[in-house]
Amino acid sequence: MRTPINEVTPETGRAEVAGWVHEIRDLGGLTFFLIRDRTGIIQVTVVKKKASEAVLQAAKAVSRESVVRISGAVKPIDKAPGGRELTPETFEIVSPCESPLPLDVVEKVPADLDTRLDARFLDVRKPRVAAIFKIRSAVTAATYEFFSKRGYYNITSPKVVAAATEGGTELFPIAYFEKEAFLNQSPQLYKQMMMAAGFEKVFEVGPIFRAEEHNTVRHLNEATSIDVEVSFADHNDVMKVLEDLVSHQYATVAETCSDALADLGVEFEVPKAPFPRIPYADAIDIAAKKIDEPIAYGDDLSTPSERAIGEEMGEHYFIVDWPSAIRPYYAMPYEDDPSICKAFDMMHPRMELSSGAQRVHQYDLLVEQIKAKGLSPESFEFYLQPFRYGMPPHAGWGMGMERLIMTMLGLQNIREAVLFPRDRHRVVP
Ligand code: ATP
Ligand code: MG
Repeated sequence: MRTPINEVTPETGRAEVAGWVHEIRDLGGLTFFLIRDRTGIIQVTVVKKKASEAVLQAAKAVSRESVVRISGAVKPIDKAPGGRELTPETFEIVSPCESPLPLDVVEKVPADLDTRLDARFLDVRKPRVAAIFKIRSAVTAATYEFFSKRGYYNITSPKVVAAATEGGTELFPIAYFEKEAFLNQSPQLYKQMMMAAGFEKVFEVGPIFRAEEHNTVRHLNEATSIDVEVSFADHNDVMKVLEDLVSHQYATVAETCSDALADLGVEFEVPKAPFPRIPYADAIDIAAKKIDEPIAYGDDLSTPSERAIGEEMGEHYFIVDWPSAIRPYYAMPYEDDPSICKAFDMMHPRMELSSGAQRVHQYDLLVEQIKAKGLSPESFEFYLQPFRYGMPPHAGWGMGMERLIMTMLGLQNIREAVLFPRDRHRVVP
């Protein structure tokens, strides 16, 4: 139906392009239009004395951000974007745009994030914003490619569930006929059950729902998790999978998204595996030296602690050997010192990206640990049953897609990495 704008070159001769009117500059005898599609921008010049009556009429009537279709001769011109311009012979207004616009796509006046999210379809017309989602799409594709090359099965676990993964308070109850049900906060229990099913290596890229009370710049109520579980593997094996994946995701973006990175003004170094490993005990020592708050062994890492440790490390890293008391019941304690466990967090200097562990695969130990956390094994019977019928040792992790994109691109707010973010105050659009 048309030539993508980036394929129109000074040598093209003739072309028909279709897209949105990005800018209009009327100089009296001459009107310059910038026409934009997903691939780029082209200048269209209407010379009053030379254009046909039909072209002049359309050029006069058209408003910014209308969809137009224009055909004509292409000639080289130094000052225009892409070194070429189009002289229209036909100029059709395909779909007019009302004015004023709820949001300025050319962004002469920067809008605040809420205004942008309210008119997200317009916001995403900005090449700089579209670039984020071009990159996110490449990261998703790289993730599927990485796992399918390594023989992982892609699974889809249910998002409507009867029980919490960790008995937490972060659940959204939903109206599900006459039963009590919730939106799932993690595929954790289901990917573990697939280890009992003999799938051995699984991954899922899917939504997780967290009823996080607070509005922060790194929490969403609906996020996307990249989840992995591997049989006959320990925590060290899956940490290697994780760092290799992150390297591959960055390398793919560097290789295939140079235009989008340029639109965003982002440059990065591809993180190199292996990432440094630091025990939890050393991590809190670093934090204790750098910040004023008192920190005790056994505390969860506060945001300032995470920041302080990240500053010191300066690159992606793992925190390992966590106190068992602050990790979920399914984390495997060390045989020689059960007060610590084979759990890890993978960190970007700015924040946590992933949590994982070797899991408890022994039924009796798992029941004991569930009870020790004050939870009732009865409500986990669907999960516990597979552990009585041949469960291999296994390990895995979950990584937040939005945090990965946010840290890769230096975004200030996690909402910028989601097309239609869901937070405490936003369920529309
Ligand atoms: P945090 O302590 O930073 O809130 P968490 O430890 O509660 O995270 P996990 O349950 O370990 O999160 O989930 C694994 C990963 O999923 C996290 O490291 C993060 O990347 C992502 N994630 C979890 N909750 C959210 C959320 N509410 N919004 C965005 N990403 C999330
Ligand atoms: Mg975590």
